[in-house]
Amino acid sequence: MYLKRELNEHLSTFRTSRFPYANKRKNSLRYEVTIGIGGNIGDVKRRFEHLFIYLQRDKRVSIERTSLILKNPPFGYTQQEDFFNSIMILKTNMKAQTFLDYLLGVEKKFGRKRSFKDAPRTLDLDIIFFNNEIINTKTLTIPHHSWSKRESVVIPLASMSI
Ligand code: AMP
Repeated sequence: MYLKRELNEHLSTFRTSRFPYANKRKNSLRYEVTIGIGGNIGDVKRRFEHLFIYLQRDKRVSIERTSLILKNPPFGYTQQEDFFNSIMILKTNMKAQTFLDYLLGVEKKFGRKRSFKDAPRTLDLDIIFFNNEIINTKTLTIPHHSWSKRESVVIPLASMSI
């Protein structure tokens, strides 16, 4: 079940049972991580629910909050289905690079296959912020290089601060 709202002819938001969500319990995990989640193959909203349950069962992370889901057109390679995107705020004791490796493992579990740049995908997980850290290594750029230019990040993120 979900509640759909059209923002304009290109953008719609969806509310489901776990998006948006706020955890009221405190936990002692050290780092707060904001991740962007997205996909455009198959039933993406259902996959987000499965991702939520998967992460909730994993003791290495705690889900603090999630945003609503935004449906938005693809950029780059545009001959593909619209994307569904959302934001999750997690806590973890993993450091940034370890956490990235963890996310790549989760993507794989949810069927992600890398083909070409901006290709359709089952589940894409990006680190947007990691505990106010600034990181620029070969494998990791934090904050995410184009987060502030993407509706897919900015609109779900803005919906969380209301
Ligand atoms: P993508 O095709 O967007 O999923 O690219 C994933 C690759 O981008 C990863 O293997 C990372 O090495 C690199 N990367 C750099 N910065 C980030 C970030 N902030 N979050 C996720 N991946 C990143």
